[in-house]
Amino acid sequence: MKNFPMFLRMDGRRVVICGGGEEAARKCRLVLKTEAEIVVTGPIGDPELDGLIASGRVRHEAAPDARTFDGAALTFIATGCPAHDAALACLARAAGAVVNVVDRPEMCDAFTPSIVDRDPVVVAIGTEGAAPVLGRRIKTDIETMLPPRLGPFVALVGRLRGAVAERIAPQRRRGFWEWALDGEPFRAHLDGREREAARLLKEAVNAGAAPEAKGHIALVGAGPGARDLLTLRAVQRLQQADVIFYDRLVDPEVLELARRDADRVYVGKEVGACAWPQDHIDRLIVAEAGKGRRVVRLKSGDPSVFGRAAEELAAAEAAGIEVEIVPGITAASAAAARLKTPLTERGEIDTFAITTGTCQPGEADPARARLAHPGTAVAFYMAVEKAGAVRRDLMEAGAPGACPVDIVASVSTEAERHVACTLDTLPDTIRAEGVRSPAILFVRYPKSMAAASHPATLVAAE
Ligand code: SAH
Repeated sequence: MKNFPMFLRMDGRRVVICGGGEEAARKCRLVLKTEAEIVVTGPIGDPELDGLIASGRVRHEAAPDARTFDGAALTFIATGCPAHDAALACLARAAGAVVNVVDRPEMCDAFTPSIVDRDPVVVAIGTEGAAPVLGRRIKTDIETMLPPRLGPFVALVGRLRGAVAERIAPQRRRGFWEWALDGEPFRAHLDGREREAARLLKEAVNAGAAPEAKGHIALVGAGPGARDLLTLRAVQRLQQADVIFYDRLVDPEVLELARRDADRVYVGKEVGACAWPQDHIDRLIVAEAGKGRRVVRLKSGDPSVFGRAAEELAAAEAAGIEVEIVPGITAASAAAARLKTPLTERGEIDTFAITTGTCQPGEADPARARLAHPGTAVAFYMAVEKAGAVRRDLMEAGAPGACPVDIVASVSTEAERHVACTLDTLPDTIRAEGVRSPAILFVRYPKSMAAASHPATLVAAE
């Protein structure tokens, strides 16, 4: 570590910014987040700096001298003129200031990190200049991990520290803080219920302990595979979970987003056979939540699409356990994005349908004839084995054999594959290409194809 990270006290101290252009304005914006007195020196050519000086928040010194830097906490130099920068750096350093010269690392005593600001929580990221782009990427990752409202919540909790020390016995304090920072108060605050968060915290402080934990079940959509296709809410629920029940199609890289000490239970279904019967899963998630634990039922794609969500919701509600659905990106959306073929298209596709190739044993296939309609795009789930029936039913109902079909397998994973064919050649293509589940069969019957195949009907209609 060539540079040592530290947090500097800023209240009541002075920061000098030499330069009056955009670079100086950028540094000024950073320092404005603190309580430091800000002095900007030199000719001003930036309207934002002009405004700050006019408002009195920033003081202006046209010609800096040694006294300008005397006792300053930090000095940023960004005049745009290398010789001038060097001279000012010498002057500032001689006065004992810590100096940062913009874009001149060899002249710097200190470097500005990439900052994730959830004041009073602040994360600073540095790469010692080796890979600034990586630094920004890490910043983006952390930005997505930390909820925007984290700062005000931590500030609220901070204000209660004294009361907690006074009213909560030492052996109960740890439990209190875990509940406050992981439990209902935190979630209430994140959901925008600040008053309720404050009320819960104060009630617990007055009662001398955190209330007994209430269980909760979240049916969380894991998306099609790639972990950056999860929603931020899904990531939050994973990080709050005590136990996670996950399916076969959930990608391992998604599970890595969970808290390290969460229990993980695989309840996956092998194709065709249920390793875990649904009612067993229902009972288990309810039993875990009944112990006061945070349960995540992690499902591929969107839990509401062929995800047995109805049974799990009913089981949770029957047991009086709070339950929510966190939506995910369903395989059809991910496949359409991958193909750059929108699910609907003005003038061509006005109806988008999701259906399945495989029903419960003993149940009739879905009625497909109604899907063979001009202007319709259909995503067939669980249909690789049923391609023959799909082709037969749609064509018998009038869909042209030339309708374009895209088969997208394992979308957004390393095994992703795309094969294009037509409705007519669909079963043969699947066989010849050896396409395996999971795959979406995306069949499009654009309006223009109907016009092409039935021109007479169209003229008659007009
Ligand atoms: N809830 C899931 C669907 C579960 S049913 C969702 O919303 O996506 C399982 C079927 O989903 C598979 O047979 C396949 O048709 C589809 N599927 C799931 N993940 C997929 C993926 N990564 N690529 C292509 N199809 C996928």
